[in-house]
Amino acid sequence: IKEIFDTMDYGPAPESASEALQWLGDRGGIAGHYIGGKWGPLRDDFPSNNPATGEKLAGVTKGTAEEIETAVAAARKAQPAWAKSGHKRARILYAIARLMQKHARLLAVMETLDNGKPIRESRDIDVPLAIRHFYHHAGFAQLMRTELPDREPLGVCGQIIPWNFPLLMLAWKIAPALAMGNTVVLKPAEYTSLTAMIFAEICTEAGVPPGVVNIVTGDGETGAALVNAKVDKIAFTGSTEVGRKIREATAGSGKALSLELGGKSPYIVFDDADMDSAVEGLVDAIWFNQGQVCCAGSRLLVQEGIADRFYAKLKSRMDRLRIGDPLDKCIDVGAIVHPVQLDQITKMVNANAEGETYQTKAPEGCFYPPTLITGLAPASTLMQEEIFGPVLAATTFRTPAEAVEIANNTRYGLAASVWSENINLALDVAPKLAAGIVWVNGTNMMDAAAGFGGVRESGFGREGGWEGLAGYTKPKGTPKPIRKIDAFTTEDGQPA
Ligand code: NAD
Repeated sequence: IKEIFDTMDYGPAPESASEALQWLGDRGGIAGHYIGGKWGPLRDDFPSNNPATGEKLAGVTKGTAEEIETAVAAARKAQPAWAKSGHKRARILYAIARLMQKHARLLAVMETLDNGKPIRESRDIDVPLAIRHFYHHAGFAQLMRTELPDREPLGVCGQIIPWNFPLLMLAWKIAPALAMGNTVVLKPAEYTSLTAMIFAEICTEAGVPPGVVNIVTGDGETGAALVNAKVDKIAFTGSTEVGRKIREATAGSGKALSLELGGKSPYIVFDDADMDSAVEGLVDAIWFNQGQVCCAGSRLLVQEGIADRFYAKLKSRMDRLRIGDPLDKCIDVGAIVHPVQLDQITKMVNANAEGETYQTKAPEGCFYPPTLITGLAPASTLMQEEIFGPVLAATTFRTPAEAVEIANNTRYGLAASVWSENINLALDVAPKLAAGIVWVNGTNMMDAAAGFGGVRESGFGREGGWEGLAGYTKPKGTPKPIRKIDAFTTEDGQPA
């Protein structure tokens, strides 16, 4: 194995954390608000730590209701001018994307330091996908007038994001909102505010007019203040529990709302599946980002006849996963984002002793070992509740009908994976699954051009694709269905 890793070329590795730490030091070691194109207030109200070492990276400012009001007022003032020219928005969104590329290494290292995710993931997945989101939506800013002629911006959007993909979730929120002529007030998650600070600097550098992008740091109280502020939309990604509170708080207020919430996505392996690929897919489904992924394939359903062989292959693959320093380019599994989360995962697994547990080893500190728990009843807590850690709960099924029944036996409905070499079987099963997205012989396949979102308690509304754009607009006069692009035209309606 060592030989294999030694010959692998992951491209230039981030040599160290020094550039990112220097960046923080140069800014006084505080992450605070970016309002109306200016920094401040900046207070050290609570720490943001490196979960892999426990060291403090920066102090974070806890935004107050007044500070939220100031940010919303700045966004309100900037919105009409921002909505005027799709060409100008496109130019600025392209500039943001290019500057993110320029600062990609700083963004990747900062994300890994702050969140604990392997550098290979932040460098090859989080940051490039975030950039792709800005490029994609830059195009749509330009096309809005001709391709969505009957839509107009909502106005000011309040956006609240979780800690698992800090920069990527920021991109999912900000890029479409800006493209469609809205201005935003975004609140990053309390554990992971640092890449949002770099992003704010990039906004200044890209020429984003003051007030178009506002970032207010803080915790759940700051988030609640944003929900109650005079905004036209709340876009939230986070837990189902908080999503429920936000839905209550916004009910009857006239605010548009999108909720991207939790999941317990099934990963269904039929007996004719390509087993090696299905095992490799699982590494991505449940051990990517330490399993802290809303659409993680956290429930394995494997057909009875191959279950023993499949589990054996899976365990031997688990033994080869490398867990440790997230800044090491060969690491597969990094640190859990925060000791509070580690505690939750540990308690949940320990409190539910059913099934047979297989665990690999993890270093001391804020790490949790990749874990497989087999022989679980479909109704057991570990099969039903989101663990949000590197823990795979498994059961078996006999027939396709039973697979569908077990897969749908959940309050969630975000994603699902189906593995079979029989495409007729896969395509028969896929539409029967209650999920916002179904992957066949794959997992975690996402793109800025494709809508992503859940059904049931996984939320509503879509991000990405045409649906995502529609979610940041409202009909002008009589609503018409969104047209597909049939020709690229300039803003004046001329062929490009
Ligand atoms: P969380 O709900 O605790 O926090 C999410 C964000 O909401 C944070 O910024 C937090 O400060 C803020 N918040 C907390 N209380 C609030 C309140 N009362 N009002 C307004 N804002 C409040 O979730 P988390 O622990 O950060 O993230 C994990 C959860 O997010 C998981 O359940 C996961 O499945 C979900 N998630 C979903 C998606 C998706 O696209 N569906 C993506 C990523 C994460």
